[in-house]
Amino acid sequence: MNSFPVIEKFVSIDGEGPTAGALSVFVRFAGCNLRCAWCDTSYAWQTEPQTEYLSAAEIAAYVQSTGVRHVTLTGGEPLMQKGLIGLLSRLSDYEIHIETNGSLPIQPLRISERIHFVVDYKLPDSGMEAHMYLPNLAAVTAADAYKFVIASQADLDKALLIIRQYRLTERCQVFLSTVFDRFAPALVVEAMARERLNGVKLQLQLHKYIWDIQKRGV
Ligand code: SF4
Repeated sequence: MNSFPVIEKFVSIDGEGPTAGALSVFVRFAGCNLRCAWCDTSYAWQTEPQTEYLSAAEIAAYVQSTGVRHVTLTGGEPLMQKGLIGLLSRLSDYEIHIETNGSLPIQPLRISERIHFVVDYKLPDSGMEAHMYLPNLAAVTAADAYKFVIASQADLDKALLIIRQYRLTERCQVFLSTVFDRFAPALVVEAMARERLNGVKLQLQLHKYIWDIQKRGV
């Protein structure tokens, strides 16, 4: 039977994306195919001694036990997990957000209207831009979101270029975020006002303001 390497599972608020601030049950899978320069979840790059190996049935049972109606599947990179469609089928009663790094196709996982994708576009400072799977930029819908994490002025400029080039605000929700302590959110707001970026939202990672930035399971 397929099992999923689960680094952590917990109930908290969503720190970012369309459901930021709302309660969610998180399942964080081990394994990532990228190595972003500013990664804040590098502990999920590979399994740890305390990693649990859970079947889809066991994950679904955990989700049900929490009583929380919204699920966030994250990582690492959740789309790397074999058997994900089987897990999604078991979670069909829930609203699900899948947080993905943008390097793998989302379309094969779009098996229900209750599944939403929060897709990253990795900007130049991440060092991972070459790995972006560009067809995702045309595959997102109004129920999905694209997220740009900005670490420099060059990153901000590239984000604006991609948003315009792919007319992203007409396709999905669009969020601009910043690497904590690397780029001032005020500069993003200034650019949004200057460029008249209608349909784009600034988003700060809530959990980094609520808890210690190193704290896990929140
Ligand atoms: S994709 Fe996410 S988990 Fe993977 S290296 Fe980048 S920030 Fe870290």
